[in-house]
Amino acid sequence: MSLDQVSRRRGRAQAGVLLLALLMAAIFLADTLTRLEVAMAVFYVVVILLALSLLPRRGVIGVALICAALTVFSLFLTPEGGSLRSVGLVNAAISIAAIGITAYLALKRAAAEEAAQEARVQLARLSRVQSMGELTASIAHEINQPLAAIVTSGSACQRWLEHDPPNLERGLRALQRMIDDANRASEVVKRIRRLLRNAEPRMASVDLADIAAESVDMTRGEMQRRGVTLNERIQEGLPAVRADPVQIGQVIINLLLNAIEAMRDMPSGERRLTLWVSVAEPGQVQVVVADTGPGLSPQARERLFDAFWTTKPDGTGLGLTISRAIVESHGGRLWTEPAKRGGATFCFTLPVTAKDAVADKDAVADKDA
Ligand code: ADP
Repeated sequence: MSLDQVSRRRGRAQAGVLLLALLMAAIFLADTLTRLEVAMAVFYVVVILLALSLLPRRGVIGVALICAALTVFSLFLTPEGGSLRSVGLVNAAISIAAIGITAYLALKRAAAEEAAQEARVQLARLSRVQSMGELTASIAHEINQPLAAIVTSGSACQRWLEHDPPNLERGLRALQRMIDDANRASEVVKRIRRLLRNAEPRMASVDLADIAAESVDMTRGEMQRRGVTLNERIQEGLPAVRADPVQIGQVIINLLLNAIEAMRDMPSGERRLTLWVSVAEPGQVQVVVADTGPGLSPQARERLFDAFWTTKPDGTGLGLTISRAIVESHGGRLWTEPAKRGGATFCFTLPVTAKDAVADKDAVADKDA
């Protein structure tokens, strides 16, 4: 998040807390000045519901306790006595019960929302791991078969050549089988690469800003857990792109998770993630994901997009390979930029839809005229 956004958010939070305090003071005054049979204190539930969106869990509990204390306090300050005192006591008890129940239910709901958010991230990770696991298994199976055949033919060839006298004709036939099987293995690799590139996406006219915002939502819990701050700049009024929102969401989530993981060993306070979405050039929407991690070594730069190249103990080395294949199948490009101040920067572009491309060009032409 940029400094500007941080100070704007802080300003909004301070204004919210001030509003809470004013509301509490107003209810306290009204409760003290009105007669004891009027249960004004019940309105403290509004304060608690507001506090929920402004304060952390402990803050909400604190506000609920203050509201309950103010209810009791104003009961003693209200200048009416006699038989009305018992009515006031009943009203105060009802108000305090309402405050307690509201705080309890509101906090329970917030906890449930947090758990649901967590589950969504887990699901996104699981689907990433699952699809990669399936892909790895199928690649291993397809390649293992010709490899096993090559070993069999190789042993046969060796036997025919060791024969006395050597049986050259059969040896040569075994060699030919080895060449055929090796070609088959390389054909399998080519087919898989083609498959990844041509995986039929479900295209629609979509707003990359929405996909980026959803991807951020999916990874927000992970960012908070790892103490990562986000600088998010999404240009307003972006032209639509033709894309499969699920696939492009996977690409952004993959880049965000890689960035978060890369900053694991950085000192807290220096884990900053940047996500920019903008029109970089007419007809192209660009997404940039940058981090303040250790950056890319020369070897990483060379091998980053190789299938199965990973430096993580539990990595698959397929995330970037698949991401690049997805972006290219959308007619876009995915690359890394030399980072100016350390860390790694990944960018990808997607072409805007034909209709928006025309509008985009017209806008540029209007500007030039
Ligand atoms: P995986 O995440 O399973 O390792 P990827 O293809 O997504 O597979 O990434 C391959 C490798 O590229 C990672 O293991 C890591 O070494 C490197 N890498 C990816 N993103 C970053 C980044 N933001 N900073 C530094 N290294 C990165």
